Amino acid sequence: AERLETEELETEELETEELRTGEFGTGEFGREGHGTEVADPVGAGPASVAFEDVTFRYRDDLPYVHHGVSFDVPGPGMTAFVGPSGAGKTTVFGLIERFYEATGGRILVDGKDVREWPLAELRAAIGYVEQDAPVLAGTVRENLLFAAPDATDAEVREVLVRARLDGVVERLPEGLETVVGHRGSKLSGGERQRVAIARALLRKPRLLLLDEATSQLDAVNELALRDVVTEVSREVTVLVVAHRLSTVMLADRIVVMDAGKVRAVGTHAELVAADPLYGELAATQFLTASESAPESVSAPES
Ligand code: ADP
Ligand code: MG
Repeated sequence: AERLETEELETEELETEELRTGEFGTGEFGREGHGTEVADPVGAGPASVAFEDVTFRYRDDLPYVHHGVSFDVPGPGMTAFVGPSGAGKTTVFGLIERFYEATGGRILVDGKDVREWPLAELRAAIGYVEQDAPVLAGTVRENLLFAAPDATDAEVREVLVRARLDGVVERLPEGLETVVGHRGSKLSGGERQRVAIARALLRKPRLLLLDEATSQLDAVNELALRDVVTEVSREVTVLVVAHRLSTVMLADRIVVMDAGKVRAVGTHAELVAADPLYGELAATQFLTASESAPESVSAPES
């Protein structure tokens, strides 16, 4: 069904191209050649995202979670969202996916209000890796193909490499056919999150939303995740709710949120100089009290 959505998207894009070409008469928006060469969603390029004075509450009888959130992500690269637990970071992602609609203000993807996007098209453009993303019961292959059942073996191999999972899969007793998750071979927290990233990449998103796992990662996994995110952000717009200084340091843009507002936007160096809350978060590696692992060094991954 996912594949069908993608094909529908391509068809619609083609129609839009034709419409534009007709409208403008020239090839400014047109494509060389004929209709057979249709851009896939990756070819359509990284998405832009903007929040304009967004207010939001989950229900009429609950307090506002966003009190006028504004930020602008014009193109590819990595934008990190940081801030204390409860600041409203995950809610930003829910609103972009339109799991919920903003109470006030506007949310734009590619300059178009998310309320005006056909929902299936919007969702097809986005890969969402939830916090502590689940690995489903079943094999690694089934986990990857879940959202992109028609992906080819070559595509699967490619995302395994991009998600730095090729070595991990090689070491599993039955490779891609190894049963993981519940009662299967255990994957570490970092590996689980990369399986979720690989799953998202298989759908060729133009926008990747990554709610970084809060579980402790070993150094190898932390490095792998950092490399994956940096590499993906060269071609895809990546928004990451970050809990690790190692991720944040690499971001092109950092949005500091607190109590439903954007406090500051900038680079690490700019924010260290300008924003005391950012300085505090950086000093504690962003792990806030309720999200941090127990003090004990032998804290298990959760
Ligand atoms: P963060 O990701 O920065 O920790 P969230 O966006 O998850 O913050 O949550 C912001 C606020 O919204 C919190 O007070 C949280 O309790 C509340 N909240 C989150 N999800 C829901 C929900 N589904 N229903 C009601 N309140 C929610
Ligand atoms: Mg969150």
